Amino acid sequence: MFRTLDEADVRGKRVLVRVDLNVPVENGKVADTTRIERAAPTIREIADKGGKVILRFHPGEERNDPGFVAQLAALGDIFVNDAFSAAHRAHASVEGIAHRLPTYAGRSMQDELEALTNVLRTPVRPLAAIVGGAKVSTKLDLLGSLLAKVDTLVIGGGMANTFLAACGHSVGKSLCEHDLLPTAHEIMAQAKSKGRELVLPVDAVVAKTFAANAPSRVVAVDGVGDDEMILDIGPRSIERVCSVLARIKTLVWNGPFGAFELEPFDIGTVEVAEAAAELTAAGKIVTVAGGGDTVAALNAAGATGRFTYVSTAGGAFLEWLEGKPLPGVEVLRAG
Ligand code: AMP
Repeated sequence: MFRTLDEADVRGKRVLVRVDLNVPVENGKVADTTRIERAAPTIREIADKGGKVILRFHPGEERNDPGFVAQLAALGDIFVNDAFSAAHRAHASVEGIAHRLPTYAGRSMQDELEALTNVLRTPVRPLAAIVGGAKVSTKLDLLGSLLAKVDTLVIGGGMANTFLAACGHSVGKSLCEHDLLPTAHEIMAQAKSKGRELVLPVDAVVAKTFAANAPSRVVAVDGVGDDEMILDIGPRSIERVCSVLARIKTLVWNGPFGAFELEPFDIGTVEVAEAAAELTAAGKIVTVAGGGDTVAALNAAGATGRFTYVSTAGGAFLEWLEGKPLPGVEVLRAG
């Protein structure tokens, strides 16, 4: 379906490789090397097969400028794109170059495409999606497209507060997009009319300040005080989500259940991640997760290695889930 390195004859050729080494740097040190490690196999394979590898970086890139594309194309004989995380951008080294040189997917791109294609095109059902994170507004397209595909949609994180408010619950000082209550109603009505199960939190961990180790308590979703904010899902909600995991075959996950950067408000995310990882390791479910914060949360939970596939891509992963064509993937299609 996609042209990969299997079809590329790289021997003696100058091979332009597009990688994404946009890694988090803390105090001058690379804090997470996942992207570098994932790029290495493609580079090594091309070098081992006798190709000359060229990686680069250029400011003319983002405009997909034809002059820059031509300069870039002149540097190589073959183009290998190994940066799925940039595939949603119509940039010179993602899209433009592919019209000039024979183009193939690198191994990391191939892994990503195969994992995502298997899960969403032909999922083993029941299929559930967990969508968490901060806001409904950034994930509206995602919720819409997932409702068309999944059997169960679990909503968590700050975005669940907008749904709880739409259900008539007072959410106090919680992050909540009050202007989107009609949208939340619409999504709930859509789920009902399509016969999809929508799972919202039934309890929450609330605190008066947005800070690590802020004094907190567990309340039912109708018990949030005016001066409190929801920072995580509660134990009954965790149990409910785990009971969903126990009866599905495939899980897609984007976005944390709470403000996971602040302990102990990572507990909901960590416990669900652990349950999903155990079921995956036992061969009972297939789990695919993606998005920058989600990967950080799963790493912190020690669950990443036991998931079927964890995508390091943020925007590209979301756009893929939303069913949008990605410029960098379209140019790799065979035929
Ligand atoms: P996103 O980038 O949309 O996936 O959102 C991730 C962010 O959502 C993380 O930084 C979390 O801290 C934040 N988040 C999740 N749940 C909550 C919540 N209940 N209140 C405030 N922030 C939250």
